[in-house]
Amino acid sequence: MGGWRTALRDALATLFPVRCAGCGRDDRGVCDECRAALRRPRPRAERLVARDAAGGALELVTATGYDERMRRLLDAYKERGRADVAAVLAPLLRTALAALVAGRPGTPAPGSLLLVPVPSSRAARARRGYDHVPLLLQRAVPRAPVVSALRHARRVRDQSALGVAERERNLAGALVAHPSVAGRRVVLVDDVVTTGATLLEAARALRAAGAHPVGAIAVARVPRIVTTPRMR
Ligand SMILES: [Zn+2]
Repeated sequence: MGGWRTALRDALATLFPVRCAGCGRDDRGVCDECRAALRRPRPRAERLVARDAAGGALELVTATGYDERMRRLLDAYKERGRADVAAVLAPLLRTALAALVAGRPGTPAPGSLLLVPVPSSRAARARRGYDHVPLLLQRAVPRAPVVSALRHARRVRDQSALGVAERERNLAGALVAHPSVAGRRVVLVDDVVTTGATLLEAARALRAAGAHPVGAIAVARVPRIVTTPRMR
């Protein structure tokens, strides 16, 4: 059996996924059971507060918790090019946005808000070949104004092995926002939130550029204090 056959099978498996990205069972894309488990998300609102208080506070709404299924789905979408998984992740992001806007009287309609994704590190973007959060966002709210207004001002260490305080130190001043966001009301968007340190740094950078962050949304929330490899 030639190696090209294996290569071809691998290519076909990527184009026409045969295993559920959530649980691994033989299926196409994401199986019915995994879809059903994510169909009625119960968004959770909380208030992120910077430990040094200088960064201010930020309202965060997440659509769901971060269990093994969600870990596998996000990993398949981000790291293994499984674009088909966006179909089950996008509605979760949409739900979180709706809950953020509904839960805050006085918050403008989604159409008048600027959605600003938290940027991936340059290394992650180079490895994946694309920036996954803006892609997911475009699918979740196709007509919403999405502006990739944040970039890294300097290199940061990999966050996965760091505790809460270390993450904040690692990220302090790491992001910078484009001046065009001045005066705009923005919602920050990420896929997974662990300590919230990245979102707080993003909010600080936006405020420094004259923008008004009204809140943040994400697909999944890792329970506090838990540090798991390969997450922000
Ligand atoms: Zn499944």
